[in-house]
Amino acid sequence: MPDLKKDISARRTFAIISHPDAGKTTITEKLLLLGQAIQVAGTVKGKKGPHATSDWMTMEQERGISVTSSVMQFPYHGRTVNLLDTPGHEDFSEDTYRTLTAVDSALMVIDGAKGVEERTIKLMNVTRLRDTPIFSFVNKMDRDIRDPIELLDEIEEVLDIEGAPINWPIGMGALFKGVYNLYSDVIHQYTPGKGSMLPDERIIEGLDSPEARELLGEDYDDFVDEIELVRGASHSFELEPFLAGKLSPVFFGTALGNFGVREMLDDFVKWAPAPLDRDATTRTVQATEESFSGFVFKIQANMDPRHRDRIAFLRVCSGRYTKGMKMRHTRIGKDIKIADAVTFKAGDRVLVEEAVSGDIIGLHNHGTIQIGDTFTEGEDLQFTGIPHFAPELFRRIRLRDPMKSKQLQKGLQQLSEEGSTQVFVPISSTDIIVGAVGQLQFDVVSYRLQDEYKVEAIYEPVSVYTARWVTCDDARKLDEFRKKAADQLSIDGGGHLTYLAPTRVNLALMEERWPDIEFRATREH
Ligand code: GDP
Repeated sequence: MPDLKKDISARRTFAIISHPDAGKTTITEKLLLLGQAIQVAGTVKGKKGPHATSDWMTMEQERGISVTSSVMQFPYHGRTVNLLDTPGHEDFSEDTYRTLTAVDSALMVIDGAKGVEERTIKLMNVTRLRDTPIFSFVNKMDRDIRDPIELLDEIEEVLDIEGAPINWPIGMGALFKGVYNLYSDVIHQYTPGKGSMLPDERIIEGLDSPEARELLGEDYDDFVDEIELVRGASHSFELEPFLAGKLSPVFFGTALGNFGVREMLDDFVKWAPAPLDRDATTRTVQATEESFSGFVFKIQANMDPRHRDRIAFLRVCSGRYTKGMKMRHTRIGKDIKIADAVTFKAGDRVLVEEAVSGDIIGLHNHGTIQIGDTFTEGEDLQFTGIPHFAPELFRRIRLRDPMKSKQLQKGLQQLSEEGSTQVFVPISSTDIIVGAVGQLQFDVVSYRLQDEYKVEAIYEPVSVYTARWVTCDDARKLDEFRKKAADQLSIDGGGHLTYLAPTRVNLALMEERWPDIEFRATREH
């Protein structure tokens, strides 16, 4: 009898957050290399090739690939690591946000030359909703980067998290010699040009050693002083604030040079949390419970439009999935037998025999499963905390051929159920407004409407600054608000009342004028 608790406690499920070009793809490759999931780096996925003229074309090319590289599982030091990919293209979507609700920790990759960038800030704000523990990796030490102390300050100030350096770089750029571990008093020496394979470890024990003096040469005394300063001025690592999302261990290295990644991964599997307990409507579900449960955080349409099947990505939250088991789809109250759940290995979909808490499995369906749906072994519960985020970009969508409005509605409904876009129907007009968190989502929606639903749609600008989901305990007040603000109110794809604010000032004014009305920037499924 396999030991469920042991299997679960070995799981480490995480995602990488970073700004485009910081090195997420490169570090992913090195992690897989270390996990021996691939043999040579450079094989994970193609970057944008010379033939891809736009990001959404790249995304179309990647769509098939990304289903299979969405979840990467590899063993490391007796643990089973699940790395959840977030879309790699320049733009980003709500998928990225929601994937972060399915992990137990995250790795933040920062380009050492650029520091904390805008996308990273946004993603950190999402992880903060659940106080997700964060590892930090300052990348590209083989280049001339910014002063490491300054970078540490920036992480703390901009991201509002304490930074605890675990290792400290010796030099940078052409003079990068390695990293010094502040805790084990060991120097890992850097050898350039070994990025595509597992480098041999070249280690010097002790900063106070002849070997260290030789390596550092005339910089030795300065480096010793710098380490004194760093120890005195920075936070030291402690597990508890890390697990509470308040303190992040910081590692320096170069993903391209495959250096510093191993040290980071060694500590990651030690410190990152095993699958965490999850809140549901009726109770908190413990990750180690015997009984199976999970929720859907992402839906991906199949590349093959003839079948229109979709894969729902389910994060297992407790117990064990075994092939052929019966699950309850709690939203519709139906029991279904699942014999063909898939997992994603080495660029292929394979049938999954079993999976435990922390793992991700893919469920085939033809539109019956929605983002946020909960599956159990019979218990009637619904996981909470799988959010919709208020879109930041809005367009009015119009048909070239007005006869196709049925197809448009059907297409939009399905795309919104998949989470590809959000749809708003104003209560006082016949418009349809679509919202997104990244520009690329619009391109994908129009492409897919054309390709899969044979509808040619055009976008027009619309003066909407942001959306807020509206709730109020007082039915009379809500009714009054509905009448007074009718011109700005819409119903979203899930049937919820939404205020579409034309400007930031307008939103502030409305919030002030209607103190009993709640204007929410996120809505849970
Ligand atoms: P992503 O957009 O975050 O996935 O970034 P990539 O992994 O594709 O990296 C962006 C660019 O930075 C690529 O040209 C990489 O080769 C390069 N890069 C990644 N890591 C390093 C590094 O440690 N040093 C240097 N010099 N370049 C790197």
